[in-house]
Amino acid sequence: MTPKEILGAMSSPAKEDTDLVEKAYAFAAQAHKDHKRFSGEPYIEHLAQTAAALASLGLGGKTVTAGLLHDSIEDAGIAPETIEKEFGKEVRFLVEGVTKLGRLKYRGAQRHVESLRKLLVATGKDARVLIIKLMDRLHNMRTLKFVPPEKRRRIALETLEIYAAIAHRLGMGLVRRELEDLAFEYALPEEWAQTKKLLSEKSKETLERLEKMVRNLRKEFAQNGIKNFNTDYRVKGLYSLYRKLERKDGDIEKIYDIAALRIMVPEETDCYRVLGLVNNLYQPLPNKIKDYIAFPKPNGYQSLHTTVFTGDGGIVEVQIRTQRMHNEAEYGIAAHVGYKEGGKKQSGSFDWVRSLVPKFGRQKPKYEYGPPHAPEWLKGLEDEEDDPDFETALHTDIFNRRVFVFTPKGDVVDLPVESSPLDFAYAIHSDIGDHTFAAKVNGKLEPLNTVLHNGDIVEIQTKKSATPKQKWLDFTKTTLARRHIRNALEMQTAGMTNTAHRQKKTK
Ligand code: MN
Repeated sequence: MTPKEILGAMSSPAKEDTDLVEKAYAFAAQAHKDHKRFSGEPYIEHLAQTAAALASLGLGGKTVTAGLLHDSIEDAGIAPETIEKEFGKEVRFLVEGVTKLGRLKYRGAQRHVESLRKLLVATGKDARVLIIKLMDRLHNMRTLKFVPPEKRRRIALETLEIYAAIAHRLGMGLVRRELEDLAFEYALPEEWAQTKKLLSEKSKETLERLEKMVRNLRKEFAQNGIKNFNTDYRVKGLYSLYRKLERKDGDIEKIYDIAALRIMVPEETDCYRVLGLVNNLYQPLPNKIKDYIAFPKPNGYQSLHTTVFTGDGGIVEVQIRTQRMHNEAEYGIAAHVGYKEGGKKQSGSFDWVRSLVPKFGRQKPKYEYGPPHAPEWLKGLEDEEDDPDFETALHTDIFNRRVFVFTPKGDVVDLPVESSPLDFAYAIHSDIGDHTFAAKVNGKLEPLNTVLHNGDIVEIQTKKSATPKQKWLDFTKTTLARRHIRNALEMQTAGMTNTAHRQKKTK
């Protein structure tokens, strides 16, 4: 992939952006000139693909540049200062952010998964950092078949547990689905094959049914003066179907949204009108009409849903939304961040999102169930209605009250804001806390009352002779640390009294 192709995927880049991207391409190609991908391709291909995916999502020149440079610190030993000098502060910030995220390791321990997700989201407070990381992972997943087999499963599991979940939280439905379906095959090969077989048996009749429905609805809409609308349908992602099957005793007949019909209209009020027409034409199932417009899902998803009997023995979910809601469902936060770069608006409407849509995901997904005329990129959105795993919202206020710091090994410790290295030490183990003697933050010795920040790497040095001090109570934040310190101080006082007492006696 050439710089020209990357630039072509950007929505009307300014001259400075063009220069920056071209320069970064040459820089990255040089920095990684001795590196090859497992596929045998030069490493720059991975960087260019990542950058192009970012461009297609509508992100600005600096983010695209950071996409080209995202592995340069970690894999090519380029100094962050050099990146700043050549490409500016903002690009350096983005590349360093991605590098930090990359140092986190998935250790397969369930209890770490949630804090790891939180940490990723918190560390990537600038959403662009997370989006770069997601596009990096997406390309790695698209080329996973070249990776040695013993590594594939770990990468696939990590993708399912961490990255797909983050994509979901950011509302990026298309990315989440592709990550999940690419990972599913390698993480759970047997289940993947089984689900794939089930779905292909089922999808033919479902799609025929949907086409018939669309014809009927078009007529109905025309008779009621609704002219301005689009329809499409998507088949449920394999992994999403698998998860739902698990919750429905493996009975595919109990899953009503294997294929969903989508209707896109210009205005919110049109959504409700269309809902009325659909429910009038087809008998709706009770308790299945959902108003996610008035009550959006935690990740911002908006739509009206209704599940109806099609009259020929089938049941189909219908999703009704505006084009804006549709774009947000597919691209989530990426539908917004494009605006932010450099503080200026890049476009006044969502038209630019629409215009870039067909460029995205130019690589054909592996699954192939849809009818030939439905474009691949339209088959994305998941409905994770009653999916217990995905209820947690991206509430930034939660993250604003917590900091996530790591051990030198990459394990995550979740602490209240303004926590100190001592809080960290006690969170690991009371013995470590009680014998803390010094602390290194990001490799540098710092006082014990240093305030920790998101993403800091903290290393505690202990000494047998070190003991808790009264002044530690002045700056520790966690109840856990404070309780241990108070206990230890009381013991010390009691110990001293005892000793004094004993000394008296022996006199
Ligand atoms: Mn990479």
